[in-house]
Amino acid sequence: MIKATNINKFYGNLQVLKEVELHIEKGEVISIVGPSGAGKTTLLQILGTLDVQSNKNESDLIINGEAVNRLSENALAKFRNNHIGFIFQFHQLLPEFTALENVCIPAFIKGTKKSEAEKKATELLNFLGLSHRLQHKPNELSGGEQQRVAVARALVNDPVIVFADEPSGNLDSESADNLHKLFFDLRDKFGQTFVIVTHNEELANMADRKLTMVDGSITK
Ligand code: ADP
Repeated sequence: MIKATNINKFYGNLQVLKEVELHIEKGEVISIVGPSGAGKTTLLQILGTLDVQSNKNESDLIINGEAVNRLSENALAKFRNNHIGFIFQFHQLLPEFTALENVCIPAFIKGTKKSEAEKKATELLNFLGLSHRLQHKPNELSGGEQQRVAVARALVNDPVIVFADEPSGNLDSESADNLHKLFFDLRDKFGQTFVIVTHNEELANMADRKLTMVDGSITK
C-alpha cells in the first residue's frame, strides 16, 4: 500500500528525517510513537502528500501503486481527494455547516452527486452512532462526536489509506477508547489501512505494528 524509501527532510540545516524507509501492507494498522520532535508529524505529512521530502529525486514514495512525487499538482490533489483520508487532533470541521454537510464536502469536491454524497455520508454517520446528529452543527456536538464526524469526513470518498495525527489527543479517555475501537472496526469492515501517530500507549499497542521514531529515524 505504501512503499517509502530514503525519505530525507531538512529545515535549513536541521535534518528532521533521516533516510526513512517504510513498507505498509493493505489493511495494516500502524502506529508511530516516539518523543516530541522526533519527526513523526513531518513523516506523516510527507506520506500523506501534504508535504514533500527534501530529496524528491533520490527517494521513492509509492502509494497504492502510484509514484506520487511524479504527479503534477492537480493530479496529486485529485489523488489525495480520491485515495487518502486525514484525521487530525483538532477536528477542523467547518462551524457553519451541519455534521452531514461537513462529511459531504470531500465528496462534493470529488464531483459526487449531492444525493449520492448525502446517502454515503448518512450511512457513515449512522455507522458511527451519529444518526441523531446529522443536522447538528459542530458546536452542538461533544468532543467525541465531533471527532467521529471528522472520521466520517475522512472516509466519505472510500480512501484506501487513512492518516491520523494524535486523533484522540483532545478526547476524554472513554471517547478515546471508543475512537480507537472504531479504527479497528473500520479496518475489519472496509479493509482500510491506517497510519496513526499517537502518544496514547493503549492505541499504539493495539496496532498490528508499532514503529518508534527517534531523532528522525525509525528505530524499531
Ligand atoms: P513530532 O511529530 O515527532 O513531535 P515534528 O515532525 O513535528 O516532530 O518535528 C520534527 C522537528 O522538525 C522538530 O525539531 C521541529 O521543531 C522541526 N520542524 C517541524 N516543522 C518545521 C517547520 N515548518 N520549520 C522548521 N522546523 C520544523
